[in-house]
Amino acid sequence: MNRRAFTIPWVLIILVLVAYGTSILSMRGYSETVTARELETMIEDSGNIDTVVIRTSAKNNTGTVTVVDKSGDRYQASLTDADRLAEKLDQSGVDYVVQADSGFDLSIASLLPYALMLALFVMFIRLFLGGGMGGGQNARMMNFGKSRARLNTETELTMDDVAGMVEEKNELKEVVEFLKSPQRFRDMGARIPKGIILVGAPGTGKTLLAKAVAGEARVPFYSISGSDFVEMYVGVGAARVRDMFEEAKKNSPCIIFIDEIDAVARRRGTGLGGSHDEREQTLNQMLVEMDGFSQNQGIIVMAATNRVDILDPAIMRPGRFDRKITVSRPDVAAREAILQLHAKNTRLDDDVNLKRVAQTTAGYTGADLENLLNEAAIEATMDDCPVISQRHIDDAFIKTGIGKEKRSKVISDRDKKITAYHESGHAILFHLLEDVGPVHIISIIPTGEGAAGYTMPLPDKDDSFITKGQLKHMMMAAMGGRIAEELVCDDITTGASQDIKQVTKIARSMVMQYGMSDRIGMINYDDNGDDVFLGYDIAHSKTYSNEMLSLIDNEVQALVDECYAAAKAMILEHKDVLEKSCELLIEKEKLTGEEFAALF
Ligand code: ADP
Ligand code: MG
Ligand code: ZN
Repeated sequence: MNRRAFTIPWVLIILVLVAYGTSILSMRGYSETVTARELETMIEDSGNIDTVVIRTSAKNNTGTVTVVDKSGDRYQASLTDADRLAEKLDQSGVDYVVQADSGFDLSIASLLPYALMLALFVMFIRLFLGGGMGGGQNARMMNFGKSRARLNTETELTMDDVAGMVEEKNELKEVVEFLKSPQRFRDMGARIPKGIILVGAPGTGKTLLAKAVAGEARVPFYSISGSDFVEMYVGVGAARVRDMFEEAKKNSPCIIFIDEIDAVARRRGTGLGGSHDEREQTLNQMLVEMDGFSQNQGIIVMAATNRVDILDPAIMRPGRFDRKITVSRPDVAAREAILQLHAKNTRLDDDVNLKRVAQTTAGYTGADLENLLNEAAIEATMDDCPVISQRHIDDAFIKTGIGKEKRSKVISDRDKKITAYHESGHAILFHLLEDVGPVHIISIIPTGEGAAGYTMPLPDKDDSFITKGQLKHMMMAAMGGRIAEELVCDDITTGASQDIKQVTKIARSMVMQYGMSDRIGMINYDDNGDDVFLGYDIAHSKTYSNEMLSLIDNEVQALVDECYAAAKAMILEHKDVLEKSCELLIEKEKLTGEEFAALF
């Protein structure tokens, strides 16, 4: 097969498209496009109007309107509110026709080009499959591997659109400078990294940061996702990489952004699950390309991943992705900055305290925070409120974090009482233990995720190192619910399973990861890594003996027992608060931190 054989279908397709384009024009007749306002003026002096046709889709009340005047001239405008226009026409006494617009013109004539295109496409695929298994050579010939990287010149984002991330932005400053004026750096003989890898949890703003670098430097931004490379046919991914770099070289200085790089750049030779041949070829091509352009050519490859541990070490070699920037979850100040940034696009009530929202959202990423504000805006809209108030944010927080409250769900009095005791037990410990922060809200309203109630603390610190004491306090607070049940009811319920899971998790990491057990010491026994990514982890084997295993179990048990005893003593000491809080909760269903603190 030669190249010519494949150019013919494209020519045909283009011809069909052109033909189709003209046929639309001729079928509908030429009409001048006018604005909605101009159209309204026309309707107002209605004497000149012959026919009005409104095409609207029932779904969203938008559509187009065509007006033909007495002299046969046609005007067209798009509609954002078809009903309103109809009303206006009624008022002016103009007759009009409404057509439902299904979005497609279903006459045979108009379907024909689609059918033709489909047939051509099928033919194309057949040909491709017929000779395509031979590998990369064919794929290249057919341009099937044309890079899917999008030239995104519209990146208007700047560093100002990235809130927080002071260090990350600082680290990228030199990159921006380099992209702005590469010559300055070349004259100085300075080397700028070719590749920068951004590592961080999903939603922490890696893509945003890369775009902001391009926007700040005003250079083109090519982006492609690692998962785009994972194609069925061997060699296609590699061809795509080659095209992308070719394109980029023509447009340097520029940024190539490879999202989800772990999809292609996994450790080689260990893959479970198919198509790793393809991945290897793609990765190799990427490395070849990166080695192929010189340091200061003006292309900077940025990549993002949340799994740096499964990346092939080859890509981290000097001269490739030799700069790693960790994008961490925002701390409390950064969260406030992010909230403030996104709040600019919304209308907030004066009572909204973003600092406090930032405090309660430990662990939230930038994307989570954006989503929180968006949910709050939705709540406010549904409430017909002109502004978003703190209440809407609180509701959105519960909705996104714990699931939407289900106020209408019927709960038996017995369940209500047990839940009230359970949550009060948590709350007492949150209140008394310094390290886990005071109570923010206690509620016994069931939520969408299946929780019968919840106690939400308001952590006022945001330390990145957690002490042993703090961890113990966290365990104790988590145990509070079950302990309260034990103390008051004769029996215990299944409701504490999540708490127990959390306690176990903390205790195990204390012993196995953080070296916080005296008897075991500073040895890491964390065997399951970050699990599931079998590709690499399956090769790991346990490196400790059975004796050690039972010692670990003993230590975990001892920790749990110690915290349990301490927590129980504290709740016993404040049993009056437990009773009062339970009563109040059953009455009000929800208590604020202040209301609860007043019980002491
Ligand atoms: P990632 O690529 O790390 O998964 P994104 O860059 O796609 O995350 O971030 C998703 C969204 O979250 C962004 O579009 C932005 O609106 C918001 N966001 C995340 N981090 C920040 C931040 N530091 N400042 C402002 N907005 C942020
Ligand atoms: Mg992303
Ligand atoms: Zn609980």
